[in-house]
This record gives sequence, structure tokens and C-alpha cells, in this order.
Amino acid sequence: ASIVAGAIGALSEVMGEAQRAAGATERLLELMAVQSDISSPAAPLALPARAANGASLTLDRLQFSYPSRPDTHALDQVSLDIAPGETVAVVGPSGAGKTTLFQLFLRFYDPQGGQIRLDGVDIKQLDLHTLRDAIGIVPQDTVIFSNDAMENIRYGRAGATDAEVIAAAKMAAAHEFIERLPNGYKSFLGERGVRLSGGQRQRIAIARALLKNPPLLLLDEATSALDAESERLVQSALEAAMVGRTTVIIAHRLATVQRADRIVVMEDGKIVEMGTHAQLVAMKGVYANLAALQFHHVHAG
Ligand code: ADP
Ligand code: MG
Repeated sequence: ASIVAGAIGALSEVMGEAQRAAGATERLLELMAVQSDISSPAAPLALPARAANGASLTLDRLQFSYPSRPDTHALDQVSLDIAPGETVAVVGPSGAGKTTLFQLFLRFYDPQGGQIRLDGVDIKQLDLHTLRDAIGIVPQDTVIFSNDAMENIRYGRAGATDAEVIAAAKMAAAHEFIERLPNGYKSFLGERGVRLSGGQRQRIAIARALLKNPPLLLLDEATSALDAESERLVQSALEAAMVGRTTVIIAHRLATVQRADRIVVMEDGKIVEMGTHAQLVAMKGVYANLAALQFHHVHAG
């Protein structure tokens, strides 16, 4: 069992943090689901009607250790209620458990204790497709497929029309740069095609998420520095992506945490502080230190 778990762990590392924006990775995920202990229940529950502004998410005394490290609590008694439409920024030092949270939301692993509820339903009671259809992901490093720009965004929702793809690209501030490519939306991307900048890749990922239009959006903010123009465009794309849905962001930028409704500070698998930027700075604790030392500051102008 541990060999399988190790392989899955390695695979998810390769995939990047909870990378599943597109069809190809979707199939990879299904493979993982088959090979791990995670499967849909025999009699899955349906999700109840939800609020128009997004899903609710409840973490109820989550307790989790990775199978390969049973003695280390990656998450230790983590409880959190996230309301529909809320934007929660999760911050904390490396190894705090931030990415692990996302892995559990998607059921890459199940917790040993406690529960995750989406719109009040234990996610173990949901069909895996129902769960994963409700969640959009903007990963830290976006996979660009060897395909044209139109199809690269359409991975967000197979069957979307060209007009829907273009509308999502406009909202994600990707339309302008795509139009300027040699063949516009028909331009071939990926290793053998046009190479995109980090900021452009992120906007492709955001366009995919907008096309999917999920009630719960998980964002793993890129740590890599962007030039000022890219930074501005990515920020505006992120703002568009958060409207009308519940968003959880693993945040690395001060501009992002300052805009969140709530900041959750994690350390050693636990939530150690919670509040707004101003409240947490005044606490002079873990967050205040992080804010002083670690966040990438907004570019002037
Ligand atoms: P963060 O995203 O906050 O940097 P992680 O959630 O990645 O932290 O990691 C939390 C803890 O779990 C760390 O101690 C890390 O070493 C451990 N961990 C993360 N992924 C795995 C894995 N696949 N197998 C075993 N341990 C892991
Ligand atoms: Mg991480």
C-alpha cells in the first residue's frame, strides 16, 4: 500500500499542486483515483441547492498524516467555516499544510479524522465527479498543452463554444495577448509552439477556471516574480475570477491577502491565527512576521 501511496504522492508532485484544470490531467486524476483507496461511494448523495454566490466549505477537526509519514501530522485539528462567496487567504511558512488542504478538498487523500463538508455534505458521500466538477483550480504552475490557444482555454470546460472561450479570455485579461499572437486564437502553444510568459500562463489558467465557472475556486498563487504589467493584469484577472463564488487562495502576495475577507494563518499543520490583515498585523504574531519578511510587495503604480 505504501508503494502505491508513494507513487501517487510522487505523481501529484509531478503534476504540481493539485493540478487538474484540464482534460488530460483529469484523466490522470481518474487513474490516480483508481490506484488509490479513494473512490466514489456506492450510493452517492446529491448536493443540495446552493447559494447563488458560491459553495460553503466546512473543515471539521481535520486530522491528516501522509501514508508515508504516519507519525507526522500534516494537518492537526483544523476547523474552519467558509461561507458562500467568501474569499479566504491561507498563509503560512513552507510545510505548514496549505497544499495538503487543497489535496484533501479534491480527495487526493482522505483525512484520518474529521470531515470536509461541501454545502453541508461530507465530500466522501459525493461522487468524485460531482465533487471535482464543483471545484476550479488555478495552480501555481500552469500546464500549457500542445494545442492552440482556443483549445488550451477550452480545457476548462469541454464543449464550451468559441464565443464562451473568448468571453472567459477577456475576463481573464488574456484576450489581448492572444489576439496579438501570430495566428490569434489559432496560435499553437506549448513546447513546440509559442512560449508564454509566466503571467500569460497564469491568465490562461484563470480563463480556464472562469470558463468552468465553479462554485468553489482554489487558487495557489504563483511565487515567481512577475513584471509590473503582468502583475497588474494577473491581479485584475484574479479579481474577476473571485466574483460570485467562494475562493480559497494560498497567498504569497500582500495585495492578495489584503483583499481577502479573511486570512487564515497556518503553522505546523494547525491554524494559529485568523483575521483581517489589520487585525493580524496588530497581533504581532506569526502573520506580522510573515508580512514583514516574506510577502512579495506590490509594485509601485
Ligand atoms: P505547504 O503547502 O504549507 O508548504 P504542505 O501541505 O506541502 O505545506 O506540507 C505539509 C507537511 O506535509 C510538510 O511537513 C510536508 O513535508 C509534508 N508533505 C507534503 N506532501 C507530502 C507527501 N506527498 N508525502 C509525505 N509528506 C508530505
Ligand atoms: Mg505548498
